[in-house]
Amino acid sequence: MRYNTIFIDLDNTIWDFETNSRNSLSYCFDKFNYQNFFPDFETFYQIYHQHNNTLWGLYREAKITKHILNRERFLFPLQSIGIENKTLAQSFGENYLETLSVQSILIDGAYNLLCYLKEKNYHLFILSNGFEEVQTKKMQSANIIDFFDGIILSDYIGYNKPHKKIFEFALQKANAKKELTIMIGDDWEADIVGAKNMGIDQIFFNRTNILTPFAPTYEVNHISMIKKLL
Ligand SMILES: [Mg+2]
Repeated sequence: MRYNTIFIDLDNTIWDFETNSRNSLSYCFDKFNYQNFFPDFETFYQIYHQHNNTLWGLYREAKITKHILNRERFLFPLQSIGIENKTLAQSFGENYLETLSVQSILIDGAYNLLCYLKEKNYHLFILSNGFEEVQTKKMQSANIIDFFDGIILSDYIGYNKPHKKIFEFALQKANAKKELTIMIGDDWEADIVGAKNMGIDQIFFNRTNILTPFAPTYEVNHISMIKKLL
């Protein structure tokens, strides 16, 4: 066996963050009567989504805190239409995270892949930039937590992927050798560049067929294709 340890990103690699997040936002949109402010959910979603991506970029580079990210992403859509209501934005945000953590839709083929990898006796670790308060709950909701030997979150140590420190921490926590470890992830910068800089092989789950500046160790566009590699 070429590898014995696998680091796996959670959001949008195993757990379908995009769908689960959209469904949770839609639920909160109705619950908080946001149709009073926005013509429809889609309009709200586009405003939220774009700004959220910008804020996550800043968070990953440690330019803003988790607290600011969580506050600003829900304040912004309201501010963009001239509404200043911090209490509403905060309640919406809290409800969103609660709702999100009980969603269970997985990426197509992910459950099957986890069964396969477990059967092959790989040591599996989640390596994620997501928040401590929700990542474990999300995995419990989707019934996948037992597949993993450990959950390693950037939240624990204060360094996000692609920072070297989180990969060093993960290798230590997993008691793994980097030559025998491979990283699976959908985020080019965080997962693939991060692992490569640490000397860890990578499987890039290229969901949207982006052009990459260098060739990762392996590249797949469907998660089921990983079975042929490991
Ligand atoms: Mg991801």
